[in-house]
Amino acid sequence: MEDNCIFCKIANGEIPSATLYEDEDFRVILDLGPASKGHALILPKSHAANLFDLPDELAAKAMILAKKTARKLQEGLHADGINVVQNNGEAAGQTVFHFHVHLIPRYKGDTVNLNWKPGELKDADKEEILGLFRS
Ligand code: 5GP
Ligand code: ZN
Repeated sequence: MEDNCIFCKIANGEIPSATLYEDEDFRVILDLGPASKGHALILPKSHAANLFDLPDELAAKAMILAKKTARKLQEGLHADGINVVQNNGEAAGQTVFHFHVHLIPRYKGDTVNLNWKPGELKDADKEEILGLFRS
């Protein structure tokens, strides 16, 4: 646990939360400022600031837990879809610097806004990026 980390305190039960699920590694809670009905957060109990700090084993478990919880939320709430969102860094919209996965149920015609305007893949960018992944 890290001092002054609100999600450490919530995940470890020091601060009460609306808990949907808990095991030795994670707590799944309802977001206090939901984007839609059923908006939930998956929090690891150990502190990791973001995805890059999260041990691989927990990253794998988080995705499996996201899948199970998303299915239950979508079916139980009769949602039409669900977004699985995970922000890293302020520029990416992260406001709480303890890794978390958002599960945001979606309903036809809702006003949740996760949209971007599609750009165009430029040749120079493509070559630069492909180069990063060539060994
Ligand atoms: P981020 O922007 O970092 O990806 O997401 C942080 C999320 O945490 C937001 O959706 C916000 O509503 C939620 N949040 C912030 N503080 C609390 C809290 O004390 N309790 C709960 N349940 N959610 C919180
Ligand atoms: Zn923390």
